[in-house]
Amino acid sequence: MSRFWSDHVAGLVPYTPGEQPKVADLLKLNTNENPYGPSPQALKAMKEAADGRLRLYPDPEAAALREAIAAYHGVASAQVFVGNGSDEVLAHVFHGLFLRGGRPLLMPDITYSFYPTYCRLYGIPCETVALRDDFALDPQDYVGGQGRGAAGIIFANPNAPTGMALDLDAVAGICRANPDTVVVVDEAYVDFGAESAVALLPRHDNLLVVHTLSKSRSLAGLRVGYAMGSADLIEGLRRIKDSFNSYPLDMLAQAGALAAIQDKAYFDKTRQAIMRSRDQLAVDLAQMGFDVLPSMANFVFARHRSSDAVKLAAALRERHILVRHFALPRIDQYLRITIGTDADCARLCAALAEILGKAQ
Ligand code: PMP
Repeated sequence: MSRFWSDHVAGLVPYTPGEQPKVADLLKLNTNENPYGPSPQALKAMKEAADGRLRLYPDPEAAALREAIAAYHGVASAQVFVGNGSDEVLAHVFHGLFLRGGRPLLMPDITYSFYPTYCRLYGIPCETVALRDDFALDPQDYVGGQGRGAAGIIFANPNAPTGMALDLDAVAGICRANPDTVVVVDEAYVDFGAESAVALLPRHDNLLVVHTLSKSRSLAGLRVGYAMGSADLIEGLRRIKDSFNSYPLDMLAQAGALAAIQDKAYFDKTRQAIMRSRDQLAVDLAQMGFDVLPSMANFVFARHRSSDAVKLAAALRERHILVRHFALPRIDQYLRITIGTDADCARLCAALAEILGKAQ
């Protein structure tokens, strides 16, 4: 606590990102990064954009990138908002759409842990709704949200850190049951096999869908995310952005992201490889005594039937393999393991076999 801080700073509980240690031969399966690297077209576009034009400010509206995103998803560019990673987009969503006179924001009890952090930052009451015992989200739990005076509803689909996905009928049902409440679907992991709610946008003006280039486009280091929704919602976000930072995406990020969105062949090849490796890893982990939740993401969430999760994570760390553990109620015996290449998965399985063999 410093005597120089603004009043609310001492009360904040900041989000803790997965660590990024600099160790040789480290296998990082802890932050859902993509093992394949960005599209070569994206790298080329950024190299070509790195010249004397950098003396100028970038396009504050990122018009060319928003056009490309709109064309890819079949929406209008007035329905697209871009930001410095989807975390920044989400921050503006909380600030611009969920700060509604002390009304609570509804979210699952187990979901992306940045949501409660933003609630604390902006002073939004957070009302958690328990997932079912099998970690499935029950859409019925959100049907009365509007009646309960909710400021909004947010969930990740597929959910994090479970990886479990909801089908489009369920998402549509939640939107339909809360027509005057904003429903935000965070689709950070949707490209690994789930259905995108973008298809529902023409029918639901209360729906906002958030995407990132950090996972399926392998550009976590570039920091580009975006939201799609009715022009009204997008205009609200733009007003927040232009009251905060008019230039969230630099010129290189705009050029690289645009090329990445347009390189459909590389995108499809790499996400298919990750989905194949994920399905194989789930089988291999089950054979080693893990219960693995059905994942539609680039990670699996798994619990060993007889070995403690914290001890397993520590033993993997000794072998220079990082996985993510959350010391939270209901999930503290689970490990979230990012899908790497087949060679990465093989190294993980060999390490686990050795650790579990010794434990017996
Ligand atoms: N949403 C979810 C569900 C996530 O897991 C993440 C990654 N930590 C993000 C959003 C943020 O991703 P980024 O800021 O890299 O776009």
